[in-house]
Amino acid sequence: MPDNMRSIAILGATGSIGTQALDIVARYPDRFRVASLVAGTRADELFALARRFHPRAAGLLEEPACIPDDLKDIEWVFGPDCAVQALKAAPADDALCAIVGIAGLDAVWTALDVCSRVLLANKEALVTGGALVMEKARRLGRDMLPVDSEHSAIFQCLQAAHGVPVAKLILTCSGGALRDWDIARMRTARVEDVLAHPTWNMGAKITVDCATRINKGLEIIEAHHLFSMPLSRIDVVIHPQSIVHSMIEFEDGAVLAQMGHPDMRGPISVAMGFPQRLAHGARPLDLTEVGSLTFEKPDQARFPCMELAREAQRMGGAHPIALNGANEVAVEAFLKREIAFGQICPIIEATLEKTEVCDIRSIEDVHAADEAARRTARSMLRRQPC
Ligand code: NDP
Ligand code: MG
Repeated sequence: MPDNMRSIAILGATGSIGTQALDIVARYPDRFRVASLVAGTRADELFALARRFHPRAAGLLEEPACIPDDLKDIEWVFGPDCAVQALKAAPADDALCAIVGIAGLDAVWTALDVCSRVLLANKEALVTGGALVMEKARRLGRDMLPVDSEHSAIFQCLQAAHGVPVAKLILTCSGGALRDWDIARMRTARVEDVLAHPTWNMGAKITVDCATRINKGLEIIEAHHLFSMPLSRIDVVIHPQSIVHSMIEFEDGAVLAQMGHPDMRGPISVAMGFPQRLAHGARPLDLTEVGSLTFEKPDQARFPCMELAREAQRMGGAHPIALNGANEVAVEAFLKREIAFGQICPIIEATLEKTEVCDIRSIEDVHAADEAARRTARSMLRRQPC
């Protein structure tokens, strides 16, 4: 393999992040070689990607009826641990972890064993297993490179800060699809309303998370783990244009921001190319064309989920895991039209109230706490027909 060539595992290959990462691979065939491709249920899409990128291993959550003859040279793995198996079957320099939800946690855990860098989009892995994952990354000397746009922005600002102490992290938030809706209307927002994100084009689960704003709460927890920053020094501002992707504030009050059009190829390529920067095809930013950038305080009354997440992390132990598990259950039910949008936050809140304070010492403890929270949240779905 040429010196600057890196092999990469793309976990969540058929998704929004995965396909955009593969766009970058396609642009730089002399820099990236795909070691493995992993997806959930979209077998035909994964077959098409496998024909294009020739991975050594490929995995699917659900085993398809058959593997096409022209793809039988690939080592195929199936089942809930398909990402873990694919990582072991075809070790790579880098793992792009872009499976959605806690379903991606074990892949992040294994990627730390077998890859030298983890390019992390799967924020739920840090929300649930953050302390354990970061401790393992430090112990094994692995780089964790953020893909989430806010965390990538902070990472880029920190590179520019050259180790000067940072007083505060300021995460920006577009406000989501329901930014200007009143509480009564929000309660009955339809799936179509919620999925119409004004600035970012993403997978369904994270788009719902943006509408409840739990996404920003998950990102506060993610930033806390990634940058070892106390929760009290992580602020959020609403910035509807999504041009400023996040900021750091120094002790003298100076603020450094990273800007660009909302295009995930930006943060994905920063992680894939680090420490070099790769042109990725996004429109250059012309601030005169954007005109004005506006900033508002978050509205806690209409969007209580963000502070609920901060509180869960303050409680620690099983609480952030329960927050995430209850959210995953409630969002899935909302997307299947089994509950109203307005029920998502109360289900999370009630699950947290029933969560016992306990220590989390292992990934097995994380999964046990997740299962317990899911059982609690599911019992509430049954009690709250919509
Ligand atoms: P998508 O829903 O678009 O894609 C998810 C991917 O994960 C799909 O390839 C899906 O496969 C695969 N998948 C789901 N469950 C499993 C499983 N159990 N085993 C193996 N593969 C699985 O999500 P996004 O790309 O939007 O988001 C991915 C992650 O990145 C999330 O954690 C999200 O929060 C984060 N993120 C996303 C951003 C974005 O712009 N999209 C921005 C910042 C963070 P299939 O579809 O074939 O079933
Ligand atoms: Mg984000």
